[in-house]
Amino acid sequence: MLKASTYEDLTIYKMGRSIGKFVPYFVHAFLLEDTLIDTGTGFAGVEFLSALKEKKINRIINTHYHEDHTGNNHLIQQKYSAEILAHRDSIPYISHPRNVKLRLYQKHIWNYPEGSKATAIKDFVVIGPYQFQVIHVHGHSAGHICLYEPYKKWLFTGDMFCGVKNIYLRRDEDFDQMLSSLEDLSKLKIDTLFCSLKGAIANGGQALSEKVKYMKNLRGKILNLHQAGMTAGQIRNKLLGREDMMFFITGGHFSKQFLINNILSSQYNKAVVE
Ligand SMILES: [Zn+2]
Repeated sequence: MLKASTYEDLTIYKMGRSIGKFVPYFVHAFLLEDTLIDTGTGFAGVEFLSALKEKKINRIINTHYHEDHTGNNHLIQQKYSAEILAHRDSIPYISHPRNVKLRLYQKHIWNYPEGSKATAIKDFVVIGPYQFQVIHVHGHSAGHICLYEPYKKWLFTGDMFCGVKNIYLRRDEDFDQMLSSLEDLSKLKIDTLFCSLKGAIANGGQALSEKVKYMKNLRGKILNLHQAGMTAGQIRNKLLGREDMMFFITGGHFSKQFLINNILSSQYNKAVVE
């Protein structure tokens, strides 16, 4: 399934694997001038190529190497001879996607991308009349970048935002690192945020500040309850509830308990709690 829409000079492609009439998860790719920001899932590859038919694409920028952001790199690079830019730490995985072991649910929803050839992105990138700052961010994956255009006040966040109130953490994420990067991003002047999961978000700066506030508040509550003697399991039940479908569908990849444990075990918080 693929739907295209426009936002000022951008074309936004929302896509996902259709299972019958059901699309379990959407991801967005963004076309600005001759540059695609992320390439979505390989399951929507044929539709995506058809939607891009009249377009001229010279470059792909990957916010990070995850399979739902690089799924059509190979197809598009082959067809358009496009260069691919990504953070240097993402490049080994973009070249050899099977070096990352996907879980069952990931194979069903996105599958392994084919390898493609990327080069390291610099600190700034010019796309037509737009000048983007490349910001290295932490906590979601290695080699994750956000792209900021200070004149338009646009921020492309890859998977760093994904909604204000997240109650799960992925097994390979780090809560404190994400919070620290998000806090830095929230200091930028932002009008519109472009999120891989949610698409274009107006008042993006406010949404980002709300997310930072929510995360700090949640961390504070978790640490207070821990100091008051509650176990990690009791804290989860009190603040986030029991594990739910998300845990079971993803084979435990997204977990409420992991969020609590990750906060309690981080070095920074250890120093605060002890
Ligand atoms: Zn990701």
